[in-house]
Amino acid sequence: MSDRAIVVGAGIAGLSAALLLARRGSQVDIFEASEQLGGLLEPVLHDGIACDRGSHRVHPESHPLLMELTQEAQWQNKIRAGRLILNGRQLSYPLDPFRFVRGLGAQTTLAMAKGWLLRPRSFKRALRWESDRHHVVEDEGFESFVVRRVGSAAYSGFYEPYARKVWGIDPSGLSQTVAKQRVSTSNPLNSILKKTVRHFLYPEHGMAALIDLLRSKVEDAGVQIHVGRRFEREELGRAPVFYTGHLGSLVPDAKLSHRGLYLLHITVDAGSLDDTDTWYTPEARYWFGRVSQPGRFSAQLSRPGQQVICVEIPEGQWGPEQNFVDQIDEVMAQLHHASIVKGAVKPMSVQQTFIERVYPMYVRDWVVEQRRVLSEVAASGPVFPCGRQGLFLHCNMDHAVATAAAAVEHWQAGGTSEQWAVQCRQFANFRVRD
Ligand SMILES: Cc1cc2nc3c(=O)[nH]c(=O)nc-3n(C[C@H](O)[C@H](O)[C@H](O)COP(=O)(O)OP(=O)(O)OC[C@H]3O[C@@H](n4cnc5c(N)ncnc54)[C@H](O)[C@@H]3O)c2cc1C
Repeated sequence: MSDRAIVVGAGIAGLSAALLLARRGSQVDIFEASEQLGGLLEPVLHDGIACDRGSHRVHPESHPLLMELTQEAQWQNKIRAGRLILNGRQLSYPLDPFRFVRGLGAQTTLAMAKGWLLRPRSFKRALRWESDRHHVVEDEGFESFVVRRVGSAAYSGFYEPYARKVWGIDPSGLSQTVAKQRVSTSNPLNSILKKTVRHFLYPEHGMAALIDLLRSKVEDAGVQIHVGRRFEREELGRAPVFYTGHLGSLVPDAKLSHRGLYLLHITVDAGSLDDTDTWYTPEARYWFGRVSQPGRFSAQLSRPGQQVICVEIPEGQWGPEQNFVDQIDEVMAQLHHASIVKGAVKPMSVQQTFIERVYPMYVRDWVVEQRRVLSEVAASGPVFPCGRQGLFLHCNMDHAVATAAAAVEHWQAGGTSEQWAVQCRQFANFRVRD
């Protein structure tokens, strides 16, 4: 077995793979295309505050490597202060059954209940929502999947407009996976039947602190980090490659596309906000899908009298060239309409960041293409794709770490890249927690 390994990408998956490989005695080089480490966890510096790229939290039931890091860094154990905005109501989030029904509205709830009474099989299907979504090989499509479980009133009143806002296409072309990945937390039965964890972990200085800690561990373990160095597929050779970049760079004809995310970091007067840490706004009337206040995640991320808010606008139908700074008055008006900011608030500063390829776009039967691409990658050499982009996943950071750890373990046990291309299918079913 080669004692040299290459890791492509220095997001949390790549850094974790490098650390685990080095701990087991390999000589490791990491190639990172950007000048900075962190990938999606690289901070955006706004008014001197290292803000996360959108609302990030570490979930308590995380991968052991993340837990090791959190113990060393003595992260804060926080209680969620989320709000879901639906039909003009602000509902404490995660939802309980009472709040869910209030948010959906009496008419939609009644239509859903009536549908279940008339068609008991749809109720049974709704109960199996999570497990049914595993069967992406027989992909019935997003629309059919949702309608057959909660009826057309809930679909057209809630799921369809939200999917259109995020993806910018007619949702009938989307996979049933989207019901899993984007709207899973809105699955009514999930909200009703399952206990939701309300605690989370968060580093005092934001997610950047996690990357700093990982960086120092990786360097202490003797890993060579090369920033500003894009790895090209022509470089594939005999050394094993743990690849966390975009699969399309390895297989140019791959039909695996993404949608990006706009972030607006806006500084406002602290008095214009309440103590919510994150607002969820699925309705199509708002451009944004989520808004968060870094200063509520950690006091270190705010200044006296001021608060930064991070407004997340899905790329959807906008494309990657939109300038929302020029439309800040409309954004502020929507924030006011949603009762996120109180009164007519003038922003002190605004900064836009566009992150490309944030969300894998799961069109119907995507899994067939993903499997084809992964087999082609495996045939090209000892390549072990992992992480969010490497496996075309919409996943949490601990999931990204779990895929990296599994890839390293697989290789160290003598597994081939062809075997990995099959084994990694198990990760297609992560349930995203937000
Ligand atoms: C808005 C938002 C909110 C989120 N909230 C949470 C949350 O609350 N909790 C949670 O657990 N997770 C959350 N996540 C998910 C989490 O951020 C990601 O799953 C995780 O950071 C992905 O890590 P990764 O290393 O797999 O990929 P990335 O972070 O994408 O890293 C990939 C790296 O590879 C580099 N690269 C790509 N191609 C090449 C190449 N050819 N050569 C060299 N380098 C290359 C890239 O530059 C990048 O640095 C959130 C994500 C977003 C976008």
